[in-house]
Amino acid sequence: MNEQEKKIIDCVNSLHDDIIDFTTRLVAQPSTLGNEVGVVEVMTEELGRLGFATSQIPLKSESLINHPGFAPVPWSLDGRNNVIGTLKAASHGGRSALFNGHLDVVNAGNPDFWQQNPYTPTIVDGWLYGRGAGDMKSGVAAMTYAAHAIGKAGFGLCASLTVEAVIEEECSGNGAVACLAAGHDADAILIPEPFGPTILTDQLGVLWFKVRLSGRPTHVLAAPTGVNAIEKCYSLIRALRHLEEQLNLADRPASYSGKEHPINLNIGIIDGGDWPSTVPAEASFHARLSFFPGVTYSETCSLIEATISKAAAGDDWLRNNKPTLEFYGFRSEGHSLPRDIPAFTVLDSCHESLTGQTAETYISTCTTDLRAFHWFGKGQPTCFGPVAENIHGTNERVNLESVMHVARTYALFLARWCLLTE
Ligand SMILES: [Zn+2]
Repeated sequence: MNEQEKKIIDCVNSLHDDIIDFTTRLVAQPSTLGNEVGVVEVMTEELGRLGFATSQIPLKSESLINHPGFAPVPWSLDGRNNVIGTLKAASHGGRSALFNGHLDVVNAGNPDFWQQNPYTPTIVDGWLYGRGAGDMKSGVAAMTYAAHAIGKAGFGLCASLTVEAVIEEECSGNGAVACLAAGHDADAILIPEPFGPTILTDQLGVLWFKVRLSGRPTHVLAAPTGVNAIEKCYSLIRALRHLEEQLNLADRPASYSGKEHPINLNIGIIDGGDWPSTVPAEASFHARLSFFPGVTYSETCSLIEATISKAAAGDDWLRNNKPTLEFYGFRSEGHSLPRDIPAFTVLDSCHESLTGQTAETYISTCTTDLRAFHWFGKGQPTCFGPVAENIHGTNERVNLESVMHVARTYALFLARWCLLTE
């Protein structure tokens, strides 16, 4: 590292307490689907206080709804915004950068399963606990302060920088698409998802769907004359499990050859019935299925439709009372990028300058907002983030030293990618 870079790293290190404090303020906001207003305000205020020009990007917009990356969802987009902070280039000659992180979190589930309240951030032995601590509010804090450190250390950048905090990463990807549709893009995009200090080259496609079916309600005293809608789900779920196994056995991209079970079906919500002594009239379940890069969303939809139809045809009741299938939320396709593209090489050099080692490659079995930038943007996107445990589970936690490493690496990346003014 040269003297300028060392000065920037010293500056990031001096911001340690601010980064942790900002993370805890973000984690304290229970920003589940539809409840993001508070966290977006905290983010907007912080960006403003740090000298960024801020603007909120609404999800409810013609530009999003007409965008090819828009994923229709059954919930309202009203009053729900992303936030952008921008720093104008102080000079010319560098390449632009965009840091993207999501502010939404998945539900915490039953708080009794947690060691402490999921929205009361708690630090124990160098780990911060709380819903969203890892996925991914600590990353958002690290990227924000990495951007801030450049100016604080006395430098400007030779290209523009955007700090983008979005919602709906966990359900549709519409937040990131709305920002792209509003014109926010860059030559390199870094997302601090909590997969560790690795360079993500591949991610899977992911889609969500809902299956709804009806039975014949009756008093349980004559249960054999009714049809139990909940129990009718079983054969459909078994058929989908069989599809999952077939997809794992099918030809796959070479990058996924070492993965034991990359394609995962998840039955994530099931509901139905309304009384223990009534044979249930209705039931539904919601599921998530992934698919390899190179396979399209519509091809996978067709496979699911065929699987449900075939299973229903084999059942006396479902043959004449067909289940309905609805696709909503995620409709993301997977992608693979070469490991040696310029943004990845520069990021690698930053990690190596700080640790003495090149970064490992990460092949992901889920999806992230990289999808929006890969399919609809102009830049080279990857994830490089902190080390976290139990994301989407109970007692989620993030390693605070790894958060600082993200902040240092992102700041160094700006110096080497955007270039510094003297
Ligand atoms: Zn995430």
